[in-house]
Parts: sequence; structure tokens; C-alpha cells
Amino acid sequence: MVDLLPIREVIQRHNLAASKALGQNFLLDEQLLARIAALPGDLSGAQVLEVGPGPGGLTRALLRAGARVTAIEMDRRCLPALAELGESFPGQLTVIEGDALKLDHNALMAKDGERAPFHVLSNLPYNVGTALFVRWLSGESWPPLWQSLTLMFQREVAERIVASAGDDAYGRLAVLAQWRSEARLAMKVHRSAFTPPPKVMSAIVHVTPAAMPEGVSARMLERLTEAAFGQRRKMLRQSLKGVPGALEALAALGIDETRRAETVSVPEFVAVARALG
Ligand code: SAM
Repeated sequence: MVDLLPIREVIQRHNLAASKALGQNFLLDEQLLARIAALPGDLSGAQVLEVGPGPGGLTRALLRAGARVTAIEMDRRCLPALAELGESFPGQLTVIEGDALKLDHNALMAKDGERAPFHVLSNLPYNVGTALFVRWLSGESWPPLWQSLTLMFQREVAERIVASAGDDAYGRLAVLAQWRSEARLAMKVHRSAFTPPPKVMSAIVHVTPAAMPEGVSARMLERLTEAAFGQRRKMLRQSLKGVPGALEALAALGIDETRRAETVSVPEFVAVARALG
């Protein structure tokens, strides 16, 4: 195994005091990082997009697993540490300085000008992580180029992603994550695992693409869930009043219009979206 300085020493040597503004909470435990890097399965020779490598804790675990990593980091203070890491794994690491929200990930991960599949792993600040998650799961084109998403979230957000109808946490994020993907809570991570520790607990969600149900428009499903969960305590007959044809579709499908959005399962939302065309 390639011998590397402990991450704590890398942080000290490069003076990488955690920046609150950039949502920096670093993971230093190499065993934990190796377990996270193993969540997508065997990554040997696989292309991996890592967003927010920071000082490179998860990056080194991915490189050790044999992955070819493209890492996007917007804090340029981290670049020398990442360059040093790249030297220990020749040809395996490409670092891009930038804001992951502004970059085209499919284009970045293309090989020899051809679109190529890749895995995504990331430990990001809450707001950036959720925005990217929604972006990766949206759009009409399916399956996506990403083969799996392994993402650290605030525990409440992770629970919203994997929630089922009837759960308090069930809402738009659950429908988005589950209607054409499989999403599971893969690991809970205690706040004390981070340096500095954040105020909240975290959890890692693992998502893989599934078959897209036929005849369903992603935009229509989005519109439907936006209306339904926009007024989640109201009955469907009230919350879906503004979506043309929705109440007729409920009747045709035998879905009681006095129900509330939080009781409507993902397959039921899919059926209504299909009926609306
Ligand atoms: N991956 C490292 C780890 O697990 O220890 C660092 C995690 S830290 C929570 C989040 C990292 O994402 C920081 O290095 C931060 O600079 C970076 N970051 C924050 N917003 C970003 C963005 N929009 N694009 C790329 N990187 C970002």
C-alpha cells in the first residue's frame, strides 16, 4: 500500500484550517474513509467523480481502491495537498479547481471525447449537496451517465431521501430519489467523526439508477409533487386543483381525492403523472 502522511499532518503542513464559509468538516479516520470508498463496490479501474475533496481524505481511499478520480474543489488552498497526493498515484488523479454547481459533470468525465459512465462520491456542505443531488436526479434523459451516487448528507436530509409514504420525512425529495432509482441509507456517521465536528449528525445515501417507468415525463412528475407537497397538509382535491386533469386522473385511478400528499406512494404519483401525459 502506498505510504502517505496521516491526513491530520497533511492539513497541518498545508495550513488548511477548516473554513466555515466553505462548509469544511474533514474526515480523518482512514478506516472510515476506506469503508465509505467501498460502498459503491469494486472501484478498481472505475472512473469516479469526487466533489469537494478538501485535503484529500476520501480521495486517497478512492485512489487506494484503484479508482481513476476526477476531483472538483473550489478551495484553492487544498490544491497543493491534492497535487502531492496525485504524485503518489501516477495517472489516477485529475484535480479541477472550480464550483461543482457551475460545471458540466458529464463533459468533465468524458473519455477521448466520448461520454463515459462514472461513479460519484462526495462529502459536501448541505446546501451544495442537495442542489447537486436534485440536478443529478432530474431531467428527461435516463439512465444517467452516473452509475451510483454515494453522498454524505445531514441525517435529516438522508432520511427525507429514503422515506416511504406515511413517514414524517416523506416528500418531494423521496419521490425524486425513488421513482427511477434505488436509494438506501448506507451508513450513519457520528458528528464526532468530523474535524471540526458539525452541530448535526450525518448519514451517507447510496443511489443507483433503476428503469424509468414508461410514458412518464420527469417534468410532469415534478410539477405534480411540487403542487401536492406545496400544501402537504391539504387534501389532494385542494392541492392539485391547479394541475389540469389531475383530479380526473385521481378518479380514473381510484385514488381518493381526500387523501393528503404524504400518503400517496411513489408508484401512485408515477401513475398520476403517466395519466397526465
Ligand atoms: N472530502 C473531504 C472530507 O471528507 O474530509 C472534505 C469535505 S468538506 C465537508 C467539503 C469540501 O467541499 C470542502 O473542501 C469545500 O471546499 C468543498 N466545496 C464546498 N462547496 C463546493 C463547491 N460548490 N464545489 C466544489 N467544492 C466545494
